[in-house]
Amino acid sequence: MILGCHVNFTNEQLLGSTKQALSYGANAFMFYTGAPQNTMRKSLDMDLTKQAWSLMKENHIDLKHVICHAPYIVNLANNKEEEKWQFSIHFLKQELKRCKELGVSYIVVHPGSAVGIERETALQTISKALNCIIEEDGVMILLETMAGKGTECGSSLEEIKVILDGVESKNIGVCLDTCHLNDAGYSIQEFDLLLDEVEKVIGLEKVHCVHLNDSKNPMGAHKDRHENIGLGTIGFSALSYVVQHEKLKDVPKILETPYVERAYPPYQFEIESLKAGHENPHLLSDIMNFYK
Ligand code: FE
Ligand code: FE
Ligand code: ZN
Repeated sequence: MILGCHVNFTNEQLLGSTKQALSYGANAFMFYTGAPQNTMRKSLDMDLTKQAWSLMKENHIDLKHVICHAPYIVNLANNKEEEKWQFSIHFLKQELKRCKELGVSYIVVHPGSAVGIERETALQTISKALNCIIEEDGVMILLETMAGKGTECGSSLEEIKVILDGVESKNIGVCLDTCHLNDAGYSIQEFDLLLDEVEKVIGLEKVHCVHLNDSKNPMGAHKDRHENIGLGTIGFSALSYVVQHEKLKDVPKILETPYVERAYPPYQFEIESLKAGHENPHLLSDIMNFYK
């Protein structure tokens, strides 16, 4: 089972992220190279990176299971303000370089929001931007399936397919987010049907990451509010089924569930119950007792 969570990229950079992931019992993890809400980035320290690599090796974390996430303010869909759009492209290019330096193979990117331009045009604009960014032999961009909040693009498999079709390179993949899929109107409870759909529309070989989240909202709500595993509308058994699915066994599953009371990371406990395949009926109180 390749299962981990979102971790911080602190002063110790990738080394700090690795230590944090290990403390949760994760064998995969995802990080932002700085704050997710802005594009200020510090330069990388190769010494820390090398220490991170050896710590991963000692603990059998495969670098292929370490994923980067681009900040959400990057918007490739709208080029009405040419300068902003060019900035997003430039920033992502830099981010790809940083990933390469860190030895990371995948970066998850939100396709973007149409805001004021037509949806079809927005999808084409995303492909156009990606064509400026992707390097044939470089880090692979994974487009994340979105909830469809506001004018978010990529809230259906078909829209993701349209974007992929506009990209010249084959060096592009997809990240499935269970909360987003649920909120977009796909049933995680009928996951085999959903995987058939993914196979038919996109191709399962394109999926290189799964974001494993429960949802605070019912299917089709177009909201995007993540919930702790088992405490939302998707439920433990459906999410446990996703983690254990044979067809996704080589794909890292990454938790992006909320901190309990905005203070306590739930990951150690969520990973433990998902590994065991048994829901922890005392999840929240166990987490709070542990950290208090
Ligand atoms: Fe995301
Ligand atoms: Fe996600
Ligand atoms: Zn989300």
